[in-house]
Amino acid sequence: MPSVDKLNFAIRKMGLDVNLDEVKRAYEFAAAAHKGQKRMSGDDFIVHPLETAVNLCEMKVDQASIIAGLLHDVVEDTDIPLSELEKQFGHEVAFLVDSLSKLKKVRYYGSPNYIENLRKMFVAMAHDIRVILIKFADRLHNMQTLDYMPREEQQRIARETLEIYAPIANRLRLGRIKGRLQDWSFRYLYPEEFRFLNNLSMRTYYLRDTNLAQTKANIEKLLTGEKIHVVSLHDRVKFLYSTYKKMLEHDMDITQIYDLIALRIVVPSISDCYSALGIIHRKYKPLKGRIKDYIAQPKPNGYQSLHTTVFGENGDIVEIQLRTPEMHEEAEYGIAAHWHFKERGIREYWDKRLSWVKELAHLIKNMENTQQFESMKIDLFQNRIFVFTPRGDVIDLPENSTPVDFAYHIHTDVGNHCIKCKVNEKPAGLDIRLQNGDVVEIFTDKKRAAPNIDWLKFVQTSLAKSRIKEHHKKKMSDWEENLAKK
Ligand code: MN
Repeated sequence: MPSVDKLNFAIRKMGLDVNLDEVKRAYEFAAAAHKGQKRMSGDDFIVHPLETAVNLCEMKVDQASIIAGLLHDVVEDTDIPLSELEKQFGHEVAFLVDSLSKLKKVRYYGSPNYIENLRKMFVAMAHDIRVILIKFADRLHNMQTLDYMPREEQQRIARETLEIYAPIANRLRLGRIKGRLQDWSFRYLYPEEFRFLNNLSMRTYYLRDTNLAQTKANIEKLLTGEKIHVVSLHDRVKFLYSTYKKMLEHDMDITQIYDLIALRIVVPSISDCYSALGIIHRKYKPLKGRIKDYIAQPKPNGYQSLHTTVFGENGDIVEIQLRTPEMHEEAEYGIAAHWHFKERGIREYWDKRLSWVKELAHLIKNMENTQQFESMKIDLFQNRIFVFTPRGDVIDLPENSTPVDFAYHIHTDVGNHCIKCKVNEKPAGLDIRLQNGDVVEIFTDKKRAAPNIDWLKFVQTSLAKSRIKEHHKKKMSDWEENLAKK
C-alpha cells in the first residue's frame, strides 16, 4: 500500500521546512481524486505523484512545489477543476499545477510542433523555475517505470530526456538530477553498453573497496593531525553515462578513466582546501597533469573544487575532490541550493545567472522554422563562458562569443551603437573571441546609426544575429516605403 510516510521521511532527511499536515492533506486529496486509476505497472496511480514529490525533495524545493508535485496530474486526469485546487490549496499551488497541466500533453521529440512546444516549456520556466523542477521529478519517476511502456515509447521518452531535460538540468547545475536522468536514458537507448558499464563499474568499486576504506581512514587521520577539520569525507562512483562518454574518447579503456571513483572531502574554507591538497600530496604521489584548480578557474557552468589524482593505498588510482560546504551544496543541488536562502532572493540569483532562459524564451517566441531552431539548439547545448562587465556583473555567453555578442547581451542599443571595446583594460577588436573571466568594456557612439552588417560574419549568439538582421530589415523596408511615396 502506498503511504505518505515515504514522503515524510524524504522531507525530514533533506531538512526541508514544510508543514507535514498540509502535505498529508494534499496526499489524501490526490489519492481520493485518482482512486481506481492504475499505472501501466499495475500500481495504484497515486504511487506516481507520491514518487514525484519524493524526487522533488532531493531538489530541496519549497512546500508549494511538493504539494503541486502531489497534485500535478489531478486536473488533467480527473474531474476535479483547477478552481477547486485553488480553493483548497491556494493560488501558488494552483498556478504550478496549471502550468504543468499545460505542458503535460506537450511532446518535444519527434513532434511536428517541436519548436512551439519547447517554447511553451521555456516560457513556463522563465516565469517560474519551479515548473521545470517538478517536471524533472515527474520525468524521473516515469523513467523509473519505463519498463511497462511499449518499446517505441521507451525510445522516444528516453531520447527526449537525454537531449532536452538532461542538458537543462545541467545548465541549472542540478548535478545529481542530470546524472540520474542520463543514466536512465542510457539504460534504454544503449542497453548493451549500459549493462557492460554497470557490471564493470560495480566490479571495480567492490575490488577497490578495502583499499579505498584504508585511503579514506588515512586521509582523515592525516588532515585531523594537521588541525584541518574534515566536515565530511565520502566516495562517489561516477555516473554511468558520463563514464561511457569519457570511455568513447579513450578507446573504451576503463583504466584511462581516473575519476571512476572519487573521494569528496569537504573542509571549512578555501585555504583549508589548498592546505589539505599539500598535505595529501606529501603522503600520496599525485599523477602528473591531473591537478585541476577549479576554485581559481571555475568550470563554465560555475562548478568549483580542487581536483587531484593520486596513487592511494596499494597503488590504486583515486581522484580526490576538495571543496568547501558551499561549493559542495552548489555542485550537488545547483539552483536548488539557493532555495532556502529566501532572504538573499531567489529572484535576484535567477535573473543574474540564468538570464539565458529568458533570452531563449524570447527567441523561440519569434521563431518560425526549424532552421532557426537549429541555431537555438546550438545556444542551449554549447558550452558557456562567464565574462564580466567593468562593474563586475557576470554575463553568461556561449563559447567563442565576441564583444559584439556581449554588447547585445547588455542591451540592444549598446549593440547597435557600439564602436570599439576594451578587453581586460586593453583595446581589442570587436571580433575577437572572448575567454572565460575576461572583463569587457564597450564604447558606444549615439551618432552611429546602424550596426555593421559585416558583424554577421563573426557573431555567435542568435540574439546578436537577429538584432543585426532586424535592424537592417527595418531600414530596408523604411527605405522602400519612402521610395514608394515619391
Ligand atoms: Mn505525471
